Amino acid sequence: MLDSTLQATLDGVLARNPGEPEFHQAVREVFDSLAVVQERHPEYHDMAILTRLCEPERQIIFRVPWVDDRGNVQVNRGFRVEFNSALGPYKGGLRFRESVNLGIIKFLGFEQIFKNSLTGLPIGGGKGGSDFDPAGKSDGEVMRFCQSFMTELHRHIGEHTDVPAGDIGVGAREIGYLFGQYKRLTNRYEAGVLTGKGLDWGGSLVRKEATGYGATIFAQEMLGARGTSVEGRRTVVSGSGNVAIYAIEKVQQLGGIAITASDSSGYVIDEDGIDLELLKQIKEVERGRISEYAERRGGRSRFVSDGSVWNVPGDVALPCATQNELHERDAKKLVENGVIAVSEGANMPCTPTAVEIFRDAGVAFGPGKAANAGGVATSALEMQQNASRDAWTFDYTEERLTDIMRQIHTNCLETAEEFGRPGDYVLGANVAGFRKVADAMMAFGVI
Ligand code: GLU
Repeated sequence: MLDSTLQATLDGVLARNPGEPEFHQAVREVFDSLAVVQERHPEYHDMAILTRLCEPERQIIFRVPWVDDRGNVQVNRGFRVEFNSALGPYKGGLRFRESVNLGIIKFLGFEQIFKNSLTGLPIGGGKGGSDFDPAGKSDGEVMRFCQSFMTELHRHIGEHTDVPAGDIGVGAREIGYLFGQYKRLTNRYEAGVLTGKGLDWGGSLVRKEATGYGATIFAQEMLGARGTSVEGRRTVVSGSGNVAIYAIEKVQQLGGIAITASDSSGYVIDEDGIDLELLKQIKEVERGRISEYAERRGGRSRFVSDGSVWNVPGDVALPCATQNELHERDAKKLVENGVIAVSEGANMPCTPTAVEIFRDAGVAFGPGKAANAGGVATSALEMQQNASRDAWTFDYTEERLTDIMRQIHTNCLETAEEFGRPGDYVLGANVAGFRKVADAMMAFGVI
């Protein structure tokens, strides 16, 4: 229950941003956690910290015209929401997907503020993207789209201003075209303006693996706090993009058995454990469908086109696909099947009711803003390498990532404890992420 001042602030935010259900969902969840902070820190309310935090510092919406392979002119919409720069330059990915709209970018940008704060690194929060879907487009079309997108975006970003990266639909290919156009327009080799770059031109080792690795490390830490580990655990994973692939890789490295992967056409279950090389070949190289995995793998694998991947029994669940992919009935099924830990590799993949079911059942639940922070944390490490014109080894970078994930886990756990909710990682992540940003905003006065 929110007190009346917090409720009034929340009502104001919701009324001011109509028709943005994902943004409302993300804001509500944070407000629910912050009731305990508000009691101890009335000064935050006096300085309208929450009202200011929920209002992006700047929102840019622009036309992205491009010419397809048949010579037709196409028009998409581009977004960059520069949400909060209290802790550093705006930082966050670009999502290219048909369903993208302002509300989705705002939910992602809002989450990013707290996530980036939790990394302990000097990065603010932002997010961007377009309703353009690279799937099914030729390389030439993707290039022309990216060049047009950057032609507008370049005037708003910079290594000290705003540093985009990838998200769904934006991988190394797209970052390459975007960086090339930025370099051409500005006549500067400003490597720190984008992260997720190729290894030959300013990218960081481990960045590609970082989000997925981090989500599994977070699961390992949560299990460690309960005296157990990922080793020998059946792990159910959704998605088959960058996050899912490397979450599976880390599960395997830790001795667990990842048995599923999915895409929008269905899921595969492989009782012998996912063959990662085959999955990478199909998804990273050929950009194919998940059903091909079962066709080529045979054995004890099969493709399921209808039904939910969450019906598959497992000890650990790693939702790594997209927002609101794991519903109430899925959470009930997972609990019924004995799940003990859920770590969100994607942003907000579990609905609020699903999260409640996990909480009531005593399942260790790692919210995305903590569990998937490894990606953006390693982006910040890429920025450090760019600033010092250096390139670190894989082992050193992975060590830094692992340390950061452990620190986030400890921070969430200790903060939850401090506020009388032991084991509540949602509360811990929201409060710990918020406090740092709020204190910086207090220091800066009303801006
Ligand atoms: N898109 C990723 C996220 O949701 C990474 C952002 C980044 O590296 O800037 O955190």
